[in-house]
Amino acid sequence: MKRRILTVFVCILAAAIGATAVLMTLLTYGMFENWVMDDLRVNARMLGAFLNQENGEAGMEAIADDLRVTLIREDGTVYYDNRANAEQMENHGTRPEVLEAMDSGEGSDVRDSETVDKNTFYYAIMLDDGSVLRVAQEAQSIWSIYQRAMPLSLVLLVIMMGLSVWVASMLTRRLIAPIEQMTAHLDHMDGVTCYPELEPFMSMIKSQHEEILRSADMRVEFTANVSHELKTPLTSISGYAELIESGMASGEQSRRFAAEIHKSSNRLLTLINDIIRLSQMDSPAQELTMETVDMAQIAANTVEQLRLNARKSEVTLELDARSAPIQADRRMMEELVYNLCDNAIRYNVKGGSVRVVVHPVREKVLVSVQDTGIGISKEHQAHVFERFFRVDKSRSKATGGTGLGLAIVKHIAAKHGAQIQIDSELGCGTTISVTFERRPQDKTGRQ
Ligand code: ADP
Repeated sequence: MKRRILTVFVCILAAAIGATAVLMTLLTYGMFENWVMDDLRVNARMLGAFLNQENGEAGMEAIADDLRVTLIREDGTVYYDNRANAEQMENHGTRPEVLEAMDSGEGSDVRDSETVDKNTFYYAIMLDDGSVLRVAQEAQSIWSIYQRAMPLSLVLLVIMMGLSVWVASMLTRRLIAPIEQMTAHLDHMDGVTCYPELEPFMSMIKSQHEEILRSADMRVEFTANVSHELKTPLTSISGYAELIESGMASGEQSRRFAAEIHKSSNRLLTLINDIIRLSQMDSPAQELTMETVDMAQIAANTVEQLRLNARKSEVTLELDARSAPIQADRRMMEELVYNLCDNAIRYNVKGGSVRVVVHPVREKVLVSVQDTGIGISKEHQAHVFERFFRVDKSRSKATGGTGLGLAIVKHIAAKHGAQIQIDSELGCGTTISVTFERRPQDKTGRQ
């Protein structure tokens, strides 16, 4: 990159210097040509006036010692030239400046000399007797000016190139320095000084890096938690199996141990199911199958499904649902409502109640599960959506909880752009509300 910036810089500079040099020379040469021609015109007119008066070429050499003067008759033959033998000169009737003078009184032309570095300037005027007076002067051609200016221009070019290489490398170094510093100190980017244009990029990299670290930490913590959670039922399965295997357990005991093994295996299965669900939802490749889902219908089905559980826990289940279709993933909606209702029953008290509400409110749909259960203290409310967080571990386990139910609810809500709200008072009950947009902006499942 540094090399590319440098090359571009040098190329632009060389082109700029070259173009300026050509333009300046063209301009100055144009001015120079005008001066020479003006000078010639003045001289030609003076000489013409003199010749018209004196009518002869006597004394001409004294006046025009540094000019070439030629006199041409109307038929084009040369009858005087102060630098050559007039008799040997060819007919000049076709020279552009002579033709022009014969035509309109005055004429001019510039022609290359024998040598490339010189040009000859001609100016002709018609005299009173019809003949033509032509004065000529040699001057440097544009090439010779270029040739002369060339060494100086080259020196200038080399100096400017050197300077530009230096400036460009200094600039690129300054441009790149914060990025290099940032790469070297990804963990302490606060100390890196940078220019304002780079700040948005820096803060983006910083937040992405923090995000990566955070999710790496979370993954490590999750793996540790998963291993721990799996270990408990497996230890108990292994223990009871060992007892049965050793033949120490009587027939009745064996049946009890087998029941314990059955319970622990079920626990393992639920746990593994929840973990699989979460990791599926974590995967960015997982697509939602969006369809029109009536949340009232989902709530009614869930209430039916859980009615037996509620009866066992001596909890009454109520449904207050009005038809509320939304665009959502059906299976996820079932999981969401099920998890909320299941918790409301499991963390309830004998004789308590659970009320499931589904109401369309303008462009939104409110799904809320209210219980008169044990409630959650303020300090714990912020954490209940974290993976494996339980307020009362033994109660959660005793009722078949995995500590992942609300984490799954949170994930599903986020995937549907829904808002979750929790209102709870210890000893009084809990209400968890999820508000869906009827037409979610984000159907791709991005969060
Ligand atoms: P679990 O499988 O343990 O129920 P969840 O993720 O569903 O896990 O819930 C996390 C914790 O939040 C539970 O362990 C419980 O302590 C608390 N909790 C969830 N729902 C309720 C509720 N309706 N009433 C009281 N506490 C609740």
